[in-house]
Amino acid sequence: MNKKLVSLKRASELKGRIEDYLKVIDSIPKGYEEKVQKSYKEKKQNILKYYNATENDWNDYKWHLKNRIEDPEVLSLILSLSDAEKKDLIKIGSESRWAVSPYYAALMNSTNIYDPLRLMSIPLVNEIIDVQGDLDPMNEEYTNPAGAITRRYPDRLIINVTNICAMYCRHCQRKRNIDYIENNTSRDEIIESINYVKENKEIRDVLLTGGDALMLSDKYLEFIISELRKIPHVEIIRIGTRTPVTLPQRITDDLIDMLKKYHPIYLNTHFNHPKEVTPESKLACLKLADAGIVLGNQAVLLNGINNDKFVMRLLNQELLKIRVRPYYIFHNKHVKGISHFNTSIDDGLEIMEYLRGYTSGLGIPYYIVNAPGGLGKTPILPNYVVSRGKDYIVIRTWEGKVMEYDNKPTVPLKDIIKDNESITLFKDIANSKKI
Ligand code: SF4
Repeated sequence: MNKKLVSLKRASELKGRIEDYLKVIDSIPKGYEEKVQKSYKEKKQNILKYYNATENDWNDYKWHLKNRIEDPEVLSLILSLSDAEKKDLIKIGSESRWAVSPYYAALMNSTNIYDPLRLMSIPLVNEIIDVQGDLDPMNEEYTNPAGAITRRYPDRLIINVTNICAMYCRHCQRKRNIDYIENNTSRDEIIESINYVKENKEIRDVLLTGGDALMLSDKYLEFIISELRKIPHVEIIRIGTRTPVTLPQRITDDLIDMLKKYHPIYLNTHFNHPKEVTPESKLACLKLADAGIVLGNQAVLLNGINNDKFVMRLLNQELLKIRVRPYYIFHNKHVKGISHFNTSIDDGLEIMEYLRGYTSGLGIPYYIVNAPGGLGKTPILPNYVVSRGKDYIVIRTWEGKVMEYDNKPTVPLKDIIKDNESITLFKDIANSKKI
């Protein structure tokens, strides 16, 4: 068999497997592409002019927080909104809080109501008429043994440090905590939480989240992290934040200098669409990665935003380029007010089917369904084991090729070594050399 010919035939077959993806990627909006950047820069100038602000203000996360857009009139600097739409927004906003950072708002498309960033940040009337779902499908209220803790696993827990976010995402799974009253968790509750961690020696991993953990000042965050670091059994500290996506200006040099004193620090963020991967978000992620902070992404599978095998593949590949490892794709929980974002599990399975084999293994997250009632993350995978016999299984490859694979019981290593004649032979040779 001519090896070269076989290799060329296989290479041509593999090229065929990516053609459909290559045909569509140009049509998926990306945050760094020229068209999106041009529109972003124009909108940014409009916003700066409206607030009489400067480029330095734009680079200051505190300025963005102070000027989060939560008024339809200001939003109409960015989006074409009719009077009826503005009225609707006032009505919806009275029942379901919305606010968006000027940075994120400037990335939206003015006229396309299906723009993914617009859908994730500006509420639809569906939110207040939705009757499906539950405000707390994970029963988090029943997993709070002390302070601001949520504990659902044997060796790790969450401390909810704030209910504030740079932007209030429409698909938020903790919508019940988002309110017009914005609060960081009190020092007393934080101390109670830290004491709980101290007293429970099996806790080796603490996740600080909220809300968004990076809404705390550097000083308050450092107080919490440094106290946790004093506990010998706390091995790792994780931070949950969407700021690299919604407010990348928050990743300041001061923050980085503080965090890197307390390694190992892991940070999980939440990109959902390639349009969110911009020069600014890239800079934020690179700064964190350069400081040795390990970055992961927790996307949520959202109807009309990323429930598409090509959008999700592109997103994961874009994330690897900015040194963020795709970690989870969460199936959207049935939270009241967001059922328009729900997808079938089949959508998620199709995405997973078209990741494995089609892109680097590094770019393949786990697809997770959170079991109702807070019973934990359940990974869901396409079925690669077709059937099984006594000492074999039938597997399906990523391309759908089916074959039998040996599955004899494992022989303990000590039995193999005992019976292995070559070992004896090797000893004889070694001994003869000594002579
Ligand atoms: S940043 Fe996270 S916690 Fe805050 S609104 Fe968005 S999804 Fe919810």
